Amino acid sequence: MVYNIDMQKLISVALDIPINKLFDYHCSHKGAKVGARVKVPFGNSSRIGVIVVIDHTGKRESKFKVKEIHELLDLSPVITSELLKTVKWAATYYHYPIGQVLFTAMNPIHRKAKNEPKIKYNDVSQDITVPLELNEEQLIVSNKIYKNIDKYQVNYLRGVTGSGKTEVYTNLTANLLQKDGQVLILVPEINLTPQTVARFQKYLSIRPYEYHSNLTPSQKFKVWKACKENEKLLIIGTRSSIFLPFENLKLIIVDEEHDQSYKQNDMFRYNARDISIVRAKNFNCPVVLGSATPSFESIHNINIKKYKQFKLLHKYHKSKLPLITIVDTSIDKPDEGISKVLKDKMKLELDKNKKVILFIGRRGFSNTVMCSECKSMVKCQKCDVYMTYHKNIERLICHKCEFSQKFNSVKPCCQNSSLVPLGIGTQRIEDKIKKLFPDKIVFRVDSDNISSKKDLKDFIDKTINNEVDIFIGTQMIVKGHDFDGVSLVGIINIDAGLYSTDFRGLEKTGQLITQVSGRAGRQKTQGNVIIQTNNPRHKLLVKILKDGYEEFSKIALKERESVNLPPYSHIGIIKLSSSNKHQSKSLLTEIAKFPKNKSVFVFGPSPSETSKKNNKYFFQIVVGSKSRKLLSEHISRIKLYLASIDSKIKWYIDVDPTEQ
Ligand code: ADP
Ligand code: ZN
Repeated sequence: MVYNIDMQKLISVALDIPINKLFDYHCSHKGAKVGARVKVPFGNSSRIGVIVVIDHTGKRESKFKVKEIHELLDLSPVITSELLKTVKWAATYYHYPIGQVLFTAMNPIHRKAKNEPKIKYNDVSQDITVPLELNEEQLIVSNKIYKNIDKYQVNYLRGVTGSGKTEVYTNLTANLLQKDGQVLILVPEINLTPQTVARFQKYLSIRPYEYHSNLTPSQKFKVWKACKENEKLLIIGTRSSIFLPFENLKLIIVDEEHDQSYKQNDMFRYNARDISIVRAKNFNCPVVLGSATPSFESIHNINIKKYKQFKLLHKYHKSKLPLITIVDTSIDKPDEGISKVLKDKMKLELDKNKKVILFIGRRGFSNTVMCSECKSMVKCQKCDVYMTYHKNIERLICHKCEFSQKFNSVKPCCQNSSLVPLGIGTQRIEDKIKKLFPDKIVFRVDSDNISSKKDLKDFIDKTINNEVDIFIGTQMIVKGHDFDGVSLVGIINIDAGLYSTDFRGLEKTGQLITQVSGRAGRQKTQGNVIIQTNNPRHKLLVKILKDGYEEFSKIALKERESVNLPPYSHIGIIKLSSSNKHQSKSLLTEIAKFPKNKSVFVFGPSPSETSKKNNKYFFQIVVGSKSRKLLSEHISRIKLYLASIDSKIKWYIDVDPTEQ
């Protein structure tokens, strides 16, 4: 049956539910606008939704019986028309339900029908005490980018660490603020690096707004409102700031563009770097992506002239490049992770009151614990992964499902055996280092040790006050922090990255080595980097040490091309999980056989890297194609099918995945 609509308007509303469609309602309210929220009946309850389409013609008909909305919540839209355009694009591109994309993009205050809080704005203008003067190289690059500042273009600023990319960003920003524009600067990590904001702010006439997940809903709302109301403003934020409701955006800068943290790896799996390009197109403004170690995707886009490259070749302070030493761990066998060469060098530097950073790719005390008799390792009861030993709380924790148990409550599998720690984690290194250097102050920088705002403040205070001699950390420590007086960086083990099953393993390792070395080369005296590896003759390791990241990436990219993986194709992962192992596998086998265009390829099904988690079995297929359009069409077909299956099987789609 078809219901004719003539008196009331028919509107289509996006709801925060995992169904990829809009819902029709009647609305007789004159003030209803696209982008405004409405309260609507849904099932037996009511929900908040956002108007996405209004049929002004009165001619559209709905196939269903249409209900009247309960209430119009906004007279002025909370989602700008440009943001709505971006949301629609993202829902299609990432194959994620439009309502859930839209609610991700929405301010947390607006997600619930609360009233908007009253906001008091402080004046953000400030006097500039020191003018910014660029060196010649910076000035040339800055001018070249500025020449095309009023139209869409993706610029790539490739500058060696310490070349002063920040100063180029700041110069561009200062010019645009003078013309009353809005500028967005995305950074990978804002909490750990109090200098980030200070460095941008120093030369600017206004103070920036910070935006990141640690803000309260009302702090977020304040920034949200400023974006809508202030013609002239600067936002410095992490990935979620890509969804702020800009009105007058003139430039987006994505610093450390290669960083994995721009990709969200749960629920709505978007990449803020890629969305920044879509929004810049909408605003007809430029984007500046910057890094010393461009992602392979970006290198490819530079090569095919999609991005325009600008280079900074020289360090601003004429500091020397660090001296890199490779330790062959098959000869200099590490004692609890620390080789003799590393230990001796640490002592030398610490005796001179210098600081040391030790980098380890894994948190926890050790990888796992092993039975001293049968040599088997303790696995999580619910997942097919080894438990990680956290010594400070004497517990084994599963890093996949967070299941935890007391270390001494675990029964060894054999008689007369004990459980011994195996492998190396941050805590085990910390223990060892404290034994080796008892009078030095050690700080562990990982998500176990820094998990609250208080921990963070403690870390920052101690760093600023020069209270730490040795930092031990995971990826967290590599992100942009300028520690004073660090003269030695040790990479405890590079092998996991060199022999990773992830096809991006080498790329990430190359970036890590380069970025870490950059940390060590920031002062006048020459810094030192020590890399421990089992395979000092690894071809690409040798290449990066000898010729640097750019030459390394050329070879690594050729290897990518030969296996037809990104950036030479586009891929998506379809992941299924169910408590029945055979169910998800056989379903994926069926999906893998779907008829497809010959340029679309499918790998798998194979067990996911975490093949069992929380008593669920995970299988996946990788779908790829050189053609983005054909890939997307094929994924759509798969999605349609998945939407019709047994709801006990969970699934998700990850487009342009950064992890497997
Ligand atoms: P990058 O971000 O490219 O690694 P940085 O922006 O950290 O490099 O710059 C390295 C150092 O040089 C910083 O301490 C910065 O303050 C200084 N620097 C760079 N350019 C300038 C400039 N134009 N004026 C003053 N200091 C600068
Ligand atoms: Zn588990």
